[in-house]
Amino acid sequence: MKLITLEEHYADLRIMEINNKYSSHPVSTTPHHGTGIIEDLTNFPKRVQYMDDNNVAIQVLSMTSPIGENVPNEEAIKACQLANNITKEHIDAYPGRFLGFATLPMCDPKAASKELERCVKDMHFVGALLAGRFKGRMLNEKEFLPIFQKAEELDVPLYIHPAFIPPEVKKAYYDSDAYSPQVAFELSSVGYGWHSEVGIQTLRLILSGIFDKFPKLKIIIGHWGETVPCFLDRLDFMLDKNVTGLKRNVSEYFKDNVYITPSGITSTDQLEYVVKLMGAEHVIYSIDYPYVNPKDPYGFLLNSSLSDEQKELIAYKNAENILKIKL
Ligand code: CA
Repeated sequence: MKLITLEEHYADLRIMEINNKYSSHPVSTTPHHGTGIIEDLTNFPKRVQYMDDNNVAIQVLSMTSPIGENVPNEEAIKACQLANNITKEHIDAYPGRFLGFATLPMCDPKAASKELERCVKDMHFVGALLAGRFKGRMLNEKEFLPIFQKAEELDVPLYIHPAFIPPEVKKAYYDSDAYSPQVAFELSSVGYGWHSEVGIQTLRLILSGIFDKFPKLKIIIGHWGETVPCFLDRLDFMLDKNVTGLKRNVSEYFKDNVYITPSGITSTDQLEYVVKLMGAEHVIYSIDYPYVNPKDPYGFLLNSSLSDEQKELIAYKNAENILKIKL
């Protein structure tokens, strides 16, 4: 069985340079990832070797860090176009092995929706990957609507990926004299904090009525649902549609419009739980290469109690359906 994997990052020195110039985070990395990460993010022959060794037929590529929020608007729009053109060069260099999620200029949502259209229509990208908030503004705020509207119109999914949380949130919720600054840093980001933020972003989108406005919109989130799945019953109880004024309850939107990936967390328990909750049609594969590159990236799927049909859906068939491609 082959895999199509959806949360697979790369970096490019030209884009890192633009972000460096404005002191934005050059690459989403923490001490946990070690110093070799830049090499792994930029080395394509090594990436293809990893794919060949681990049954990965296709990776959907995304630029690891978006264009930073300190980059001036005009330059950010151009940098995103450059980033997407670079992604396309990689796709063309290895026919059949890569697809692309666009990087969008969140500073200008109208330009972002235009760039999404260019990437999908002219370069056959299969969606876009959004990272965290933009200048403290959550994705459910009205100014970002053109991006979601365009994604629905083009029938492509938007992958919401975590990013570093605001310093004031980190200070209030994660910093402590009782453990080291590194523990606080990792806890606030890759360990827990930025995942719960994506969970909150997803709930805010649902509660803002995004799926009443755009019922065919598809959102993908990683890390087994970024803490939301185990709270769906509670959310329906406390925030039912009589309270929210929405057409449906929170869990109905989550189970219909949201797709979940493992992001390299190779846990059979999580897999079986999420499949039971969401249905196998709503689970898609991802490894989070090269941040996570498990030696056996799908043994946990093969050894699970799922049926062969369910395993195939998760390994590649759901990706084929949602991205409208054929392995
Ligand atoms: Ca990732």
